[in-house]
Amino acid sequence: MTGLSTRVVLATRNEHKIRELARILTPYGIALESPSDLPDVAETGATFAENALLKAREIASVTGLVAIADDSGLVVDALNGMPGVLSARWAGRHGDDAANLSLVLAQIADVPEERRTAAFVCAAAAVAPSGAEVVVEGRVDGTLLRAPRGSGGFGYDPIFVPLGFSQTTAEMTPEEKDAISHRGKAFRALAPRLSELLGAVE
Ligand code: IMP
Repeated sequence: MTGLSTRVVLATRNEHKIRELARILTPYGIALESPSDLPDVAETGATFAENALLKAREIASVTGLVAIADDSGLVVDALNGMPGVLSARWAGRHGDDAANLSLVLAQIADVPEERRTAAFVCAAAAVAPSGAEVVVEGRVDGTLLRAPRGSGGFGYDPIFVPLGFSQTTAEMTPEEKDAISHRGKAFRALAPRLSELLGAVE
């Protein structure tokens, strides 16, 4: 990758994501730009991949730069895969993490331990202004507690315990979470593919 690696635009204004993705992508020599004046792109897709592509396409076309975007959420087996792509607005107001988490806990209050399985899923997309695009998915499986634990992370982290661990992702250090997370896996898979797209705009 050349100096163009500093000109990858991240199609989000979510501070948590900006920090997480900067941590994940810096080791690959990718520096992210996240301008505060990017347009909001409606997440109208039925899947994480569709939404990630919608956002990256729009931002690539507006900025004329390679854009990367993600869409992610919590997939709860006892809720037939919901909240899924609706995770960020599950309780009705976009980004109300506390209300979203409380609603999911209430909805699965009667679900026994062995069926409290869930996963965080993330689709990561990169789109070049030329139209070239890549999308990949990452996933971490786990179970849901009955009450929140931990103060790190965001969203549903305080109730999500990844398989093979005893802490919630809100009790992990950022580095521990990145190493196993859906977003970590998706963007580590995307990073090597970015050079193809950067090549396409050189
Ligand atoms: P997005 O911005 O449309 O991708 O919304 C993702 C939503 O899914 C967030 O608002 C959170 O509620 C949830 N979510 C996604 N990733 C995580 C995570 O790493 N921890 C906790 N919640 C997450």
